[in-house]
Amino acid sequence: MLIVQKFGGSSVANPERVRNVAGIISRAYQQGNDVVVVLSAQGDTTDDLIEKAKQINPKPSKREMDMLLACGEQESVALMAMCIEGMGFPVVSLTGWQVGVHTSSAYGLARIYSVDSTRIREELDRRRIVLVAGFQGINRYYDVTTLGRGGSDTTAVALAVALKADLCQIYTDVDGVYTADPRHVPDATKIEEITYDEMLELASLGAQVLHNRSVEMAKRYGVRMEVLSSFSGNPGTIVKEAVNTVEKTYVSGVAQDKSIARFAVVGLKDVPGIAYKLFSLLAKNKINVDIILQSIGRGNTKDISFTVSSDNKELCKQVIEEAKRTNDLQYESLDVSTDVAKVSIVGAGMVDNPGVAATMFEALFEAGINIHMISTSEIKVSVLINIEDSERAMRAVHAKFFQ
Ligand code: ADP
Ligand code: ASP
Ligand code: MG
Repeated sequence: MLIVQKFGGSSVANPERVRNVAGIISRAYQQGNDVVVVLSAQGDTTDDLIEKAKQINPKPSKREMDMLLACGEQESVALMAMCIEGMGFPVVSLTGWQVGVHTSSAYGLARIYSVDSTRIREELDRRRIVLVAGFQGINRYYDVTTLGRGGSDTTAVALAVALKADLCQIYTDVDGVYTADPRHVPDATKIEEITYDEMLELASLGAQVLHNRSVEMAKRYGVRMEVLSSFSGNPGTIVKEAVNTVEKTYVSGVAQDKSIARFAVVGLKDVPGIAYKLFSLLAKNKINVDIILQSIGRGNTKDISFTVSSDNKELCKQVIEEAKRTNDLQYESLDVSTDVAKVSIVGAGMVDNPGVAATMFEALFEAGINIHMISTSEIKVSVLINIEDSERAMRAVHAKFFQ
């Protein structure tokens, strides 16, 4: 079997954990498998590197940031290779560019275009364990790029696709995908099987256990993913196209996202095309908008509120203020808040079951939590609330659906 295994930062945080992971890798190898391993940077290395950069230059270029951040993963694979060498197994560590992980040029948030499997194949043919630095690639200018926080999961799936792997195992610090983040919701339980669609929603709505792009890619190419713990040895969660539960629960999970900025454009002139003007301006600047709320006009004005990822906060503010200065957009005032969080429920079963949203709102009402905005789709309901209510909201909503 050809297996791609990925180990996250906490799984390789110190020498003892590196040895533990080396044990997992070498066991898979000894069982006769071809083993390709993707590693993240150790522990908090990526955060530490970001902090280091800030001390030198508060606004470094994205290119140089990628140059710096890619070092974390390179350190990880080299150390792991040394550990596995020490155990007497044949092993080689490779960077993203040695492997040929070709990406777009969007530094800090690059997308993988293609992976060249030649080098890895050669190494596997020599019966070596192949360690690949996650999260990094190379663009058409031969510059180093990174894939966005949590991006090593996506490296693993991309390699699994390129090598036509039989299985892609994502090892982390929890036993699998839970009905909510077990760190914040102690009653959360492990999900045995989850569909790509549900997992994609959960990951996109803030469950950082998997990078959302990794799920997107796994779905597109039908890669069977397993999320499991590098600590416990327990069976994990399988992510696949359809799941075999006898009775489908309406809701499979609850997620929160605190990296959100809420914009309120107040007193917009109430004429046709105003929403078009505002949102096409944002689209032109590649700002993704999430929840949108438009009030009924008062007099000849109306207000439009929306949320964006907090990474886009400054750019979004600049763009809207600039449009006022140039008279492209006429409004009275702009209010921006990052004291908000989004709490969501996800479940493929909710489309056929009326009342799921109402049940969620009831849980929030009982907990005395005020809802600012709501958005729904066939498989999710999201609410925007005050950031300080976020964990309490997750626990209340989770208790309502899962107890
Ligand atoms: P890694 O370093 O292995 O990539 P991450 O920190 O990216 O690990 O992801 C694992 C973390 O995701 C867990 O420690 C957990 O707190 C968090 N998490 C959030 N939502 C969920 C969920 N629904 N199920 C499991 N873990 C979750
Ligand atoms: N080291 C990177 C991060 O911390 C990538 C990853 O862990 O997947 O975001
Ligand atoms: Mg991760």
